[in-house]
Amino acid sequence: MITCTNCDTPQFLQITQSRIYFENGEVINEISETYECTLCGSTGQYVYDDDRDEEVVSGDVELTTERPKFA
Ligand SMILES: [Zn+2]
Repeated sequence: MITCTNCDTPQFLQITQSRIYFENGEVINEISETYECTLCGSTGQYVYDDDRDEEVVSGDVELTTERPKFA
């Protein structure tokens, strides 16, 4: 779960941009999401790389222990 580091809550986060990369037309390779906190105006980015099974966040957001689900 993505959380705003300023507000310490995911409640006001909005996805402003979302991109999903495909491989061979079906396999999700990489997910890129840009977040904006509507309360304090902070922005951050979340990237999930399926090849390396790696999650990276940058900016004013942080990743909490609860993993996001892409079911
Ligand atoms: Zn905030």
